[in-house]
Amino acid sequence: MRTNIHKEQIMKLLKKKHLLSIAQIHKALPDADYSTVFRNVEQLLKAKEIKRVVVDNKSVVYESSHESHDHFICNDCGLIESIDIPHVSIQGRKVDDVTVRGMCDECSK
Ligand SMILES: [Zn+2]
Ligand SMILES: [Zn+2]
Repeated sequence: MRTNIHKEQIMKLLKKKHLLSIAQIHKALPDADYSTVFRNVEQLLKAKEIKRVVVDNKSVVYESSHESHDHFICNDCGLIESIDIPHVSIQGRKVDDVTVRGMCDECSK
């Protein structure tokens, strides 16, 4: 298989930076156009190399699948923190990742 330079660059970026949107990935890869970035992200998702984290209905970010933590998202300021939640099966369902929402320390002051 032909090595795809953009896929490699995206994986490298996500290793350095936790959680990036497609727009942020695009900004970091000036030689790739937006649709190329979008297509590569879709392919990496399919290959399970990266994971999608849905912040809200307008904002989706991505991270490497090699991360093994879960996320806490603040409903007020949108802050995303890495947290560890034990993955037990819940009512017979296998749990891959968990996202919990609430209010971060700053916002609850
Ligand atoms: Zn907050
Ligand atoms: Zn994460």
